[in-house]
Amino acid sequence: MVNYLARLESLFYLTICAYSDTMLRYNFGKKITEIFVNWKEKFMDKEKIEKAVKLFLEGIGEDPNREGLRETPSRVVRMCEDLFGGSKEKASKVLTTLEGEKHDEIIFLKDIPLYSFCEHHILPFIGKAHIAYIPRGGRVTGLSKLARVVDILSKRLQVQERLTTQIADVINDILRPRGVMVIIEAEHLCMSMRGVKKPGTVTVTSVVRGLFRENPATRAEAISLLQRERGK
Ligand SMILES: [Zn+2]
Repeated sequence: MVNYLARLESLFYLTICAYSDTMLRYNFGKKITEIFVNWKEKFMDKEKIEKAVKLFLEGIGEDPNREGLRETPSRVVRMCEDLFGGSKEKASKVLTTLEGEKHDEIIFLKDIPLYSFCEHHILPFIGKAHIAYIPRGGRVTGLSKLARVVDILSKRLQVQERLTTQIADVINDILRPRGVMVIIEAEHLCMSMRGVKKPGTVTVTSVVRGLFRENPATRAEAISLLQRERGK
């Protein structure tokens, strides 16, 4: 009888364990799913964008239900994920260093294509970024990584000055170079299409750090590299 009770007790205990284990796993899984869904929604609320585009179309006197516009709100949602997707990525994560390279002269990457959005008018500014840096302790990065940094930081609402500073800051923080220089040349559609209407006007911003700032000769060398490669 005692034996039977003991067995019953352990069976009962095992059942409880299995039950709580399942509950724990189920709740845990549910929690993770909730966190993930919340995070995604927090990052980009597709429903809100869709509603807003529909309202906007109505606002400018369009009929959002006419054939050409019916799919426009959902098209804009898909486009937003691509155009503003940089906000969820960390530029510093992609900038991996290749240690042990012997190069300690200027590394120059010019004409990196750049597409971003001015946060004042939500219209594009399009141009090129040029990045020069002088490695310290052999810490260099792949050239494509620098282009990725420009891409990630551009795919969000920006102002050109801040974008230039952010690119320089990421390079400075991760590679800790002896100097870094970032130049952006861009045409702002909010200037070309509206307001002053000056198509072709290019805004140039630059940020210089380290040796490029302290030593005019080093800075001049980088600028001549940019001009020489352009055949000026
Ligand atoms: Zn603008």
